[in-house]
Amino acid sequence: MSLDTANSMSDHGCIFCRIVAGTSKCEEIYQDDATLAFMDIHPANDGHCLVVPKQHFDNVFDMPPESFGRVGSTVAKVAGAVNEVLRPGGVSLVQANGELAGQSVFHVHVHVLPRRAGDNLMINWDRNRNDDERFDGARIAEVAERLRTRLRG
Ligand code: AMP
Ligand code: ZN
Repeated sequence: MSLDTANSMSDHGCIFCRIVAGTSKCEEIYQDDATLAFMDIHPANDGHCLVVPKQHFDNVFDMPPESFGRVGSTVAKVAGAVNEVLRPGGVSLVQANGELAGQSVFHVHVHVLPRRAGDNLMINWDRNRNDDERFDGARIAEVAERLRTRLRG
């Protein structure tokens, strides 16, 4: 079996699996047994980094919640470091599931995004709109009840 074939069987053809395996380069900033954090190759802002689970999951729906918890723990550490070292105006944590949500690499990852005044990153929605049925209190309560029922299992 060629090296390429062996790699593609273990890395799902996934760039983040190759980075975890050390067969693709990254600017690593932190790792533990379950997670790896590294700089985004195409940063939205200075200091933009990513946290990934070492195990491959396409998205959060495929992932045991406990494994996502490990990612969350590393995200909190990395966000704290970004905040202390870079002193941005704020830090956004962003995680996309599915193309419609903006996901382009199908290995779970959380973006740690230092924010700067006026950076215009397109993850801000208008907090002041109220011109649609989804802003209605009854609608919000109805969706909440459906979610509570689902989450009670
Ligand atoms: P998303 O569009 O939410 O799936 O985010 C994928 C992110 O991965 C983008 O911000 C890319 O710039 C980043 N990315 C893709 N390939 C690499 C790589 N080889 N090293 C570091 N970051 C990468
Ligand atoms: Zn992967």
